[in-house]
Amino acid sequence: MEKQIAAIYDQALVESKTYEWLDHLSNKIGGRLSGSLNAERAVEWGKEELKALDLDRVWLQPVMVPKWVRGTFEYASIESRPGNSINVPVCALGGSVATPAIGLRAQVVEVQNFEELKTLGRKEIEGKFVFYNRPMPADDINTFEAYSQTVNQRSQGALQAVQYGAVGVIVRSMTLRADDFPHTGGMSYGDLPRNQRIPAAAISTNGAELLSSMLALNPKLTFFLKQDCKNYPDVPSHNVIGEIKGSKYPNEIIVVGGHLDSWDLGDGAHDDGAGIVQSMEVLRIFKNLNYQPKRTIRVVLYMNEENGLRGGKEYARVAKEKKEQHIFALESDAGGFTPRGFSFDGSDDAFKKVSSWKPYFKPYLVDYFVQGFGGADIGPLKDETIVLAGLRPDSQRYFDYHHAANDTFDAINKRELELGAAAMSSLIYLVDQHGF
Ligand SMILES: [Zn+2]
Repeated sequence: MEKQIAAIYDQALVESKTYEWLDHLSNKIGGRLSGSLNAERAVEWGKEELKALDLDRVWLQPVMVPKWVRGTFEYASIESRPGNSINVPVCALGGSVATPAIGLRAQVVEVQNFEELKTLGRKEIEGKFVFYNRPMPADDINTFEAYSQTVNQRSQGALQAVQYGAVGVIVRSMTLRADDFPHTGGMSYGDLPRNQRIPAAAISTNGAELLSSMLALNPKLTFFLKQDCKNYPDVPSHNVIGEIKGSKYPNEIIVVGGHLDSWDLGDGAHDDGAGIVQSMEVLRIFKNLNYQPKRTIRVVLYMNEENGLRGGKEYARVAKEKKEQHIFALESDAGGFTPRGFSFDGSDDAFKKVSSWKPYFKPYLVDYFVQGFGGADIGPLKDETIVLAGLRPDSQRYFDYHHAANDTFDAINKRELELGAAAMSSLIYLVDQHGF
């Protein structure tokens, strides 16, 4: 076992294709929001690259995806008095409606959470922007945990604010860093009728601090927002899938993957280009080592994680329909940073089993194994028997880039990216050898 894992690491660190692949995906294709031309180019690219690996089978799985288009870039300013305005960086949240073509100008009410909306009531909120300014808590060592404690402002903020007559929402960006990048992300209006939907935008953390301090001085200041994003009917797209057939238990399927779509502001290098190329690398390494897996190893490049999860849902639906037996699914969707370990979502017995493999990972400093979330795209595969897992890279810098214009190839460290692929390949190798 140790020898094979050492060989996997050699492959990943010396002969890696991950960086070259990610360069292409980031710089030749770029941001690839579901329904966009770039997303289709990424599908085509993924298919061709998997074919070049000489796998047993490569195919596209059709799936309908939402199409939301940002339009021309957004504009916002704080107006302390007529003729005196300061621009602030904003971006529309994914799924948001546009402002009127001439823009939207209104006073602002700043809140930390939904309870405050209730306390203030319609009287204080009607006709104004609601400005959600609760920062990600800095005292949580796991930044994903900090993110999950604040993200409801973004995902549900408009739906909540509209109940009190707000005309729009401005949401503090989900990052711990003080900078000028607004971070987009998915939001939902729930069942709200079309004519009641209000525009939602993110503001950079520096912009949020500025707005908050200016509001303290002048609660009657006005905010101006202009955005012309639009929702279109669903369009066809694809998951990209490739597999090496198992030699002994071909019906037992092990899946590794990430999501091929990304937000549109950057080029999605960390989210989730890194996970895509690392997952492809697992199969490349096995092919290059002439490793014949006992079980079927499948790579899935899921479409539409960011604003719909349609690809993950469709993959699981088809798997169920075909009565395929998935024993293990691994996702990399937490950035291309130095890997620390994995989180596992399965039975206690399964966790005991994977924990017994920790000594293999210790020399590579990647033996942090915990029970917890696997990944969004593989979530729909969950049943009583499958084990889901997620690569857990160091999370401290992830939200510096997450869903923002600076999530670009230059933010990727080649070696850290490769180490992630090596850790994933090692884990897949052990699962293939031992099963569950
Ligand atoms: Zn992601």
